[in-house]
This record gives sequence, structure tokens and C-alpha cells, in this order.
Amino acid sequence: MANTCSHCEFKITSRNQLCEDYRDPEKAYGCPQCGTFYILPSSSGPTFKQWLWYLSLGFLGGLITSLVQLNGYSRLWFWGYVLLVALGLCVAYIKSKGVTLEASGYRVTPSED
Ligand SMILES: [Zn+2]
Repeated sequence: MANTCSHCEFKITSRNQLCEDYRDPEKAYGCPQCGTFYILPSSSGPTFKQWLWYLSLGFLGGLITSLVQLNGYSRLWFWGYVLLVALGLCVAYIKSKGVTLEASGYRVTPSED
């Protein structure tokens, strides 16, 4: 995952990132060009709120599917729903990619080699 350093605009990737101490979140991810360290946005699993979203989305999907199958509603309802969910997921994905890095307050003087 590449992030742009908000201090010098350098593109930090997993290959060139600075890492002083991987166990210390304040010193585990730094810009190799200017030596500013950042707190990486946590990439933990879905939160409780997200689970609620997934659950209600699944429930609604099941509801629409049964409506289409049992009551003969147009299949367009089903595909419209699928499209809507796909769009929502795309937006959520783009939003999660656009996280801004937060400086950890830790800095080193970058070496020139
Ligand atoms: Zn930088």
C-alpha cells in the first residue's frame, strides 16, 4: 500500500518505508526522504457498525429476492439492488483508500545513502 508523505509528497511504499521499531506504532512507518514518521491507519476487520450494515444489506437482499421469486416482482428490483450495493461498496473502498496519514510526532534525520 503506497501512501504519500504529507510533509514532502514522497511516495512511501512497503519497499522504501523507514522502520525503526516495528513493535512501536510511532516508529514503524516513516518517510525515507524527510524522516517523518506516521501512524498507519489501522487495517483491522470490520467494525460493529459495518457488521450492522452488512447484516441489513444481506437481509434486504434476501427480502428482495423472495419478493421477486414469490410475488413475481420484476427482476429489475433485484438487479437494481445488486447495482446499488456494488456502488456503495466501491465508494466505501475508495474512501478507505483515501485515508490521510497522521504524523506520529517522531522524526529522524534521513541518511543520504
Ligand atoms: Zn516525507
